[in-house]
Amino acid sequence: MKSPSPAYRGRFAPSPTGRLHFGSLVAAVGSWLLARAARGCWIVRVEDLDPAREVAGADAAILSTLAAFGMVSDEPVIHQSRRTATYAGALARLEARDAVYPCWCSRSDLEPFGGIHPATCLAARDASREPAWRVRVPARTIAFDDAIQGRVAQELAREVGDFVLRRADGWFAYQLAVVVDDAAQAITDVVRGADLVDSTPRQIFLQELLDLPRMRYAHLPLALDAAGRKLSKHERAIAVDADDPLPALRAALAFLGQRPTSERTVAATLAAALDAFDPACIPAGPHAPTPFAALRKELS
Ligand code: GLU
Repeated sequence: MKSPSPAYRGRFAPSPTGRLHFGSLVAAVGSWLLARAARGCWIVRVEDLDPAREVAGADAAILSTLAAFGMVSDEPVIHQSRRTATYAGALARLEARDAVYPCWCSRSDLEPFGGIHPATCLAARDASREPAWRVRVPARTIAFDDAIQGRVAQELAREVGDFVLRRADGWFAYQLAVVVDDAAQAITDVVRGADLVDSTPRQIFLQELLDLPRMRYAHLPLALDAAGRKLSKHERAIAVDADDPLPALRAALAFLGQRPTSERTVAATLAAALDAFDPACIPAGPHAPTPFAALRKELS
């Protein structure tokens, strides 16, 4: 095997909210293929910063399912829940620069503003409870060139507003943690589902504020059901089967626009997919995956 190139460090960052589903399998396979094609590293990070949505044991289940699909992190898997001191350090740096402020506004306070914080708090300071911490966003457009989606631009002040970095319940927000960790792990390339493309300008903004390097981005097409809904909305129906990985693996490769292969093992399927991998064939737009059952029949 050729030694990994430090010029490419990719990652797959699942939240342990349930079993690995088809949408996350696509993100895993897409990020793995792009990393391997660049002879880079592929790292798994568990994003467990939302206990209310998490399922006990889901992290281990996701890691073993990934292994059944032939994908194993090149470096030890980190858990975000164990890194709060690092996120607190980043927030303190922003506080020292007066880039963040405490906010006691509730969701219903923000309702008349379409959920977008108007930059001046509506709720008064309340010493009896913890505030959330928001970052001030600039009145400018943040744009980047996505390898799959093309040019993406967002006006943070108008479209997002001052956003939360630390929630009132004390947990750090995804936006801060992901930026701190991508930099700490020296990630160069973020490959993930297009449902996160709207988060990227916020992350680029935070990278700038924290003097961290900008990543390259590739947002993969989103898997929809036949009715056009996001697949992850009904995870149970589309959890992938670690005991029978080939049909879902082939479906994920087909979903990513890659030529179907008829290899009989996971390792051989991944090797063939990597051999024939053409990133230019990855479609940009959301679409429905080929049903696993049909695919199984077609290739058996
Ligand atoms: N943890 C996020 C999720 O599972 C992904 C974050 C990312 O790839 O940046 O949706």
